[in-house]
Amino acid sequence: MIKIFCVRCGACIESCRFDAIDSDFNVGPFSCEGCRVCGIVCPVSAITFTQRKAGEIYVSETKYGPMVHAFLFPGEENSGKLVIMTRLFASIVAQENKKSLVIIDGSPGIGCSLISSITKVNYALVVIEPTESGIHDLERLLELLKHFTITPLVVINKYDINEENTQRTEKYCALNNILVLGKIPFDPIVTEAMVEGVPVVEYNRDSPVVAVIKDIFQKVTKILAT
Ligand code: SF4
Ligand code: SF4
Repeated sequence: MIKIFCVRCGACIESCRFDAIDSDFNVGPFSCEGCRVCGIVCPVSAITFTQRKAGEIYVSETKYGPMVHAFLFPGEENSGKLVIMTRLFASIVAQENKKSLVIIDGSPGIGCSLISSITKVNYALVVIEPTESGIHDLERLLELLKHFTITPLVVINKYDINEENTQRTEKYCALNNILVLGKIPFDPIVTEAMVEGVPVVEYNRDSPVVAVIKDIFQKVTKILAT
């Protein structure tokens, strides 16, 4: 077997968009995303890859149905692959349980893990808050969804914390033919329910928040049925 040595050309350092390779050609275990670009650009094939366990996937039973979820180990950033594996398990569990629908709780932002969450989905329910950063994130996310030809649906959360921004968001969605399914008011019972570890729809069934969430749920169900 011939051992191949690095010729120190620097191509891997230049190509690594995560800056995971230092000037001595050491790879940072916590900054490497495992994208394998360095292996592709290396002219002498001096880079080899080993498998690394980044997290664990669990299948749980809940009173609402099966739930597939994952635990990413501390310091691990390679969550895109874990999302893909979790989705794969979810598809298998759905098939085994004869479920026709898989609901994915998508990752925040617009990075690798979000792209892994939304690839090949039919609809994306985008929940935003009416803040400057919320509107900015919405615009970036809608562009991404357009790129992947995924139909966006929008919900404005805590709409009454800034009604002016809520109107801006509604106007933006109307101009871009995006359906706003509902506006959820701010209510501290949501935090109370989270602290108690109970879904808000069960924590206080008479809350106006719950009425809006149920209305949004009905609309989503109707859209999925068409
Ligand atoms: S696998 Fe990707 S992230 Fe890791 S060092 Fe190579 S280019 Fe950088
Ligand atoms: S691309 Fe390959 S040969 Fe060039 S510095 Fe990196 S490991 Fe060495």
